[in-house]
Amino acid sequence: MFDKKTILLDLYSRLYKAFSPRHWWPGDSPFEVAVGAILTQNTAWRNVKKAVSNLKAKGLLSPHALYHLPVEDLEMVIRPAGYYNIKATRLKHFVHFLFQESAGDLARLLSEDVHTLRTKLLSINGIGPETADSILLYAGNKPTFVVDAYTVRILFRHNLIPEETPYDEVQSLFMDCLEPDAPMFNEYHALLVHVGNTFCLKTNPKCTECPARGWNNDE
Ligand code: SF4
Repeated sequence: MFDKKTILLDLYSRLYKAFSPRHWWPGDSPFEVAVGAILTQNTAWRNVKKAVSNLKAKGLLSPHALYHLPVEDLEMVIRPAGYYNIKATRLKHFVHFLFQESAGDLARLLSEDVHTLRTKLLSINGIGPETADSILLYAGNKPTFVVDAYTVRILFRHNLIPEETPYDEVQSLFMDCLEPDAPMFNEYHALLVHVGNTFCLKTNPKCTECPARGWNNDE
């Protein structure tokens, strides 16, 4: 019987050997990463890429440009990302928050302490824990662990957590056991995403090909 730290490090080691480095999150700037984190909710990454490309092509991928763009115009540009009216409103909320907090300067905002900033991000309408943590970790290089549906599915299927475990409890499992290491958290989440969308499918998981097979004494 191993402790949870050993179990989590064992999974990381298996996945790292098989797939690293993942070079996640793709983006030319922290602002692009933050925009991607908001657009990726409930959609495939390929659709987010199209929406981000549209923003870039039109010279709109900056806090200043998005701040001044009417929400109806933003909806049309990010349409490929799906739920475009909701996501346009969320992006506007985020950008307004950015101007309110740091005059539109994301680097200045991200220089704040992680706990304070997380609380502030969660206060923005439409920004939930996964999006807030993605912004903190991947745009801000802050040591916070990102939990997504793949993380829960993999841990559940290997008998580490119940299926309906809340976000904060799953996050605490990682953050209480592992050192606060942003590059490692970055890589670990990226590896779980890769396993989730390649092997640990919702139906018919491909266990025989998966490097997590046998992890946590699971056969
Ligand atoms: S595909 Fe199978 S072995 Fe891989 S993480 Fe999912 S349940 Fe585990």
